Amino acid sequence: MTSAQPLTPDRWSLESWFTEFGAPDYQSFKIQLSADLRAQLLAAGNADSSHEVLAKVLVDFEQLTDHLGHLSAFLGCLSADDATNEAVKTDEAWASTLDAEKDKLRATIQARLAALDEAAFSQLLASPTLKGAEYAVSRMREEGRRQMAPALESLAADLNVNGLHAWGRLYDTLTGKMEFPMTFPDGHTETVPMARRRALMSEPDRKIREAAFHAGQTPWNDHADTLGAALNGIAGTRLSLYGHRGIDHFLDTPLFDSGMSRASLDAMLAAIRANIDLPRRAIRTAAKLQGTPALHFFDLEAPQVSAPDAKPLTWDEACNTVGTSFHRAYPRLGEYFDTMLKNRWIEAQPRAGKRPGAFCTGSLLRREERVYMTWHGTVHDMVTLAHEAGHAWHSCVLRPTRSFASNYPMTLAETASNFGEMILLDGLLNQSSLSPEMKAYLLDQEMLRAHAYLINIPMRYEFEHSFYSARAAGEVPVSRLRELMNEAQRSLYGDTLLPDGTDPMFWASKMHFFITGVSFYNFPYVFGYLLGQALFARFKLEGDAFLPKYEAFLAATGNASCEDVAMKTLGADLTSPDFWATALRSIVPTLEAYEKLPTR
Ligand SMILES: [Zn+2]
Repeated sequence: MTSAQPLTPDRWSLESWFTEFGAPDYQSFKIQLSADLRAQLLAAGNADSSHEVLAKVLVDFEQLTDHLGHLSAFLGCLSADDATNEAVKTDEAWASTLDAEKDKLRATIQARLAALDEAAFSQLLASPTLKGAEYAVSRMREEGRRQMAPALESLAADLNVNGLHAWGRLYDTLTGKMEFPMTFPDGHTETVPMARRRALMSEPDRKIREAAFHAGQTPWNDHADTLGAALNGIAGTRLSLYGHRGIDHFLDTPLFDSGMSRASLDAMLAAIRANIDLPRRAIRTAAKLQGTPALHFFDLEAPQVSAPDAKPLTWDEACNTVGTSFHRAYPRLGEYFDTMLKNRWIEAQPRAGKRPGAFCTGSLLRREERVYMTWHGTVHDMVTLAHEAGHAWHSCVLRPTRSFASNYPMTLAETASNFGEMILLDGLLNQSSLSPEMKAYLLDQEMLRAHAYLINIPMRYEFEHSFYSARAAGEVPVSRLRELMNEAQRSLYGDTLLPDGTDPMFWASKMHFFITGVSFYNFPYVFGYLLGQALFARFKLEGDAFLPKYEAFLAATGNASCEDVAMKTLGADLTSPDFWATALRSIVPTLEAYEKLPTR
């Protein structure tokens, strides 16, 4: 167990990846990687498309990807750990140019796969060296078929640097410098950077939230024309490229990236619509706890129950609590968590210069995982630890699987982390020593999550969907963007938002709409949340007998579509609204307990 842990966390250990940054093993790895990439770029242009040659090209590419991934993960860990290290930043920039070259290599290989007829492709897939890689290679071929001619793809990639991605950079630059004067409830006025607004809108004091919301709207309104141009530019570029690539619908690419079908997406959204009153009840309860008839947009992320005023949790206590919950519910996960602690695979030490946030990363070369976070002693941090440990366990289960079959989509990634979180929360909620204050706090946190995933994120999807539909006919003016945003909010939130409670500028303030690498950065989160709920509900029902199925599910996540993985390992039909409705209704017991909380 975890009782040998110190009071504050140690720094993590990365020595099994490289001796240290800049060490001889690190330097020679870089040199070898560059040389391999150059050699593979040359070989990829080879006209010989015999299946033996192509199979070798693919296996070499798989290995190259592992090596580059290993280096990038190492650099990612170092730069999060010390955001001021310029030498690491320089190498990160170097690695990202290698990554761009690797993308070109991938496109070349994909074009070669797309050019094969069915018989030749079947012969290729039957190559012994590609065993277990069939799904990944088929996807590469499918992507190849959606590419324009290589010269056009190359032109598009170059133009995107100065077009599509330039809009994204403009957004980052403009919003990164935004600030606004805000008068706090105590009367003092401060200049607040926009990056702080979200935290202010999560403050327990409603007057602070209200002031931050209204004062913070000014820069968004002032820059609405520029931001509207950026949003139109990004969507317009995508739609043009889709047209030239023969992609019929703007959802096709995000669905392909998510490894799921339109039928599953529609089934999931239909189930949310049909059961929308469940998450709305959570919002009504939050409004009741707050003492208002409904919520304002600025209330949505605020807790209605504060964390109990206990002394901060020590790292030791948190590790013990997480470890005990894991061991009790899922011993293999508990043992893995112990291994992570023993090997110092978790970086949690509070230290100046660390980047905020938390992530799980890993190396397919070493088959080892790492978790990054910063420990501040809150229950929220402890939940983060369980969340990231859930991700790490997913990678651990995939260790015996070849790299081509280890890449799972975002839709399936969040399932494992939600599962880890729920084991912890369930363990906490069922503790006999749980205080009523802590119980109320945990219920409130759970319901905040429920309406964020079941109303707020679907609202973003609804907006983006109507925006892309409108954009196909031409530029969408700012006035219309505001209308579409209001309509999406009304449609999902209904009467749970106050009459003046919408945020018509949310399309501008939500950075996700301006990410140029992916569109529809929303529905995969809903999918992951609900699938996690469904799996946990089945675990509660079936007990230990469910865990081998869960591991079979995790092990298959990189090797088939979401639908096939769920059907083969769990017998679940993701294209059926009933599956999603059952998942959604699993929040009912928590919701009912939440509704019984006494109002102030
Ligand atoms: Zn996660």
